[in-house]
Amino acid sequence: MTGPGDPAFMWEFRCEQFVFARLAEEQAAAEQLLPGDRELAIARWSAIAFAAAEHTIYVTAKPGNEGIQSAGRCYTCPPVHGVPCVTMCRLARIWAHHPDYQPAWNEYLENVRGTLVLDTWDVVASAGFWNMRLRDYQAALTKTSEEN
Ligand SMILES: [Zn+2]
Repeated sequence: MTGPGDPAFMWEFRCEQFVFARLAEEQAAAEQLLPGDRELAIARWSAIAFAAAEHTIYVTAKPGNEGIQSAGRCYTCPPVHGVPCVTMCRLARIWAHHPDYQPAWNEYLENVRGTLVLDTWDVVASAGFWNMRLRDYQAALTKTSEEN
């Protein structure tokens, strides 16, 4: 039986709670900035906040006002994206320097780099799949023209 006394209680919400706590700090800091800087900081904050909101774990009300229940998955992502979902884990990485950050949230990025056919770091370095595939296509064209 799980409950508030169980150290694993609500484990699935820890990442999103971390992200929303950092966002609250950033919002408060942004509101103290001078005009111009404030609008830029608020725009950055709101973009991240809306992305985070769309990747929180869905919660339903139990029948008969018996409390709330975790749906055990992201509101937006398919179950294959894990709990917490990959998007929430990547957002947490913004504050990887924070003492409450858990490297396990991004273990895939930190420890498995280079062992998969599709390396997310390559997609980042290429600024998206389009540029990555365009580079591959152009390299293939160059190779073909050199062979002919
Ligand atoms: Zn998600």
